[in-house]
Amino acid sequence: MITIKNYINGEMIAPKSGKYLDNYDPSRGKVYAQIPDSDKSDIDAAVAGAEAAFPIWSKMPKQERSDFMIKIANRIQDRLAEFAAAESLDNGKPVSLASHVDIPRAVSNLKFFATAILHYASESHAMEGMGVNYTLRKPIGVVGCISPWNLPLYLFTWKIAPALAAGNCVVAKPSEITPMTAFMLSEVCAEVGLPKGVFNIVHGLGQKVGDAISRDPKIKAISFTGGTATGATIAKIAAPMFKKLSLELGGKNPNIIFADCDFDKALSTTIRSSFANQGQICLCGSRIFIERPIYEKFKKAFIEKVSKSKVSYPSDPEAKLGALVSKSHLEKVLSYVDLAKEEGGDVLTGGEQVFLEGEYSKGYYMRPTIIEGLAYDCRTNQEEIFGPVVTLTPFDSEEEVLMMANSTQYGLSSTIWTENLRRAHRMAEEIEAGIVWINSWLVRDLRTPFGGVKNSGVGREGGFEALHFFTEPKNVYIQH
Ligand code: NAD
Repeated sequence: MITIKNYINGEMIAPKSGKYLDNYDPSRGKVYAQIPDSDKSDIDAAVAGAEAAFPIWSKMPKQERSDFMIKIANRIQDRLAEFAAAESLDNGKPVSLASHVDIPRAVSNLKFFATAILHYASESHAMEGMGVNYTLRKPIGVVGCISPWNLPLYLFTWKIAPALAAGNCVVAKPSEITPMTAFMLSEVCAEVGLPKGVFNIVHGLGQKVGDAISRDPKIKAISFTGGTATGATIAKIAAPMFKKLSLELGGKNPNIIFADCDFDKALSTTIRSSFANQGQICLCGSRIFIERPIYEKFKKAFIEKVSKSKVSYPSDPEAKLGALVSKSHLEKVLSYVDLAKEEGGDVLTGGEQVFLEGEYSKGYYMRPTIIEGLAYDCRTNQEEIFGPVVTLTPFDSEEEVLMMANSTQYGLSSTIWTENLRRAHRMAEEIEAGIVWINSWLVRDLRTPFGGVKNSGVGREGGFEALHFFTEPKNVYIQH
């Protein structure tokens, strides 16, 4: 049994309470590690360490900060297979996905911001005949980063990397459901000699550790990714202290397929955009709208391929879907299949739990599920399910599909399939989403703004947007 430790002020330590929580392997449905059940007292210690480290880290030349981050990235790269196996064990995702997506992307996040900070220029505004303004960008101080379980190290580093690169000291909390790779990252940080207190990882429950981060007045900014309801709770606590907030929240993304699309490409990509990571990616397209002339053809081909997608244990190289992250999440997703049936939906394939053999017989597996026959405004089509469940809905015009696509409280991402360039631009203009993919999905350039509109979030991550968030501008004017 592995015992995870907190990483506070440069040391790997037990929680002050001495209490631990069970950490599950979802592929086998069994406890395999213990995670600190930390509380406010651990956050207090982390904040004290971070405050003490801030003058050193923030004044360290950028190049030296960058060098530390590159060393951390390289160590993860050297141990890629080990990190990928750990991510898969902790989350249930296929090892192939963790080794091709999650861990390489965590390395890229660290390298990207380690070098971005070297190219980060501030603005200058000259006033003719008078003087000149220049704008300094200063690190904020101690900042909090809170991340979810679906892409554990990938999303954890997506926050930590710009925060550290910009010169802040960080108090971070990974999801209590998937703490393992963050723990391994803390070992790497200790190994490369990152100055103590610069980066602190406190494990435990959202209601204790996350809440303490939200409430601590010394933490001046919080970058959060997770559910919309949690984002609202954090905002309610943090707003009266005027903390800077970046909130990346839930989604219910539309995938719009016009009759003039490249059919085979739309089909194969839609399989990925529906079921990659068991549908547990905030960018998955869970509402598939298909133009009526190709509705039946698309539906038939989609069902045929999806029903053959292999649901298997994560280390099976042929697994297309692994285990869902937890028993309670599996139950939640299955309850949405029941709801869809009550709302008049037809389950075309899937809809049920999968029981594997032997050591994996207690794992949390589910067949990829396709449902049709639902109204666009029913609960199944409006609420985030965050699992391997998609709905199919036919449409007859651009106006109609835009109305249905834009009908939810969310606006994270969207996908549009058409070979008509003018239509693609029109749709991109009108769709309510922070991210639009045309004839593609999940293509990510780390320089681009990432985030959602409406209840999918506040602010943007990525590129200089993230460095703006983790710095405060200070304008200086000099009279000629
Ligand atoms: P969650 O909101 O339950 O938890 C996210 C993190 O917040 C965890 O670390 C959790 O411990 C912590 N937390 C929980 N309660 C808290 C509280 N009261 N105060 C402070 N922190 C608290 O979300 P989840 O179930 O881990 O992740 C799934 C959700 O994340 C989905 O809604 C998904 O759409 C969203 N998500 C969004 C993006 C994006 O970029 N927009 C990316 C990935 C996931």
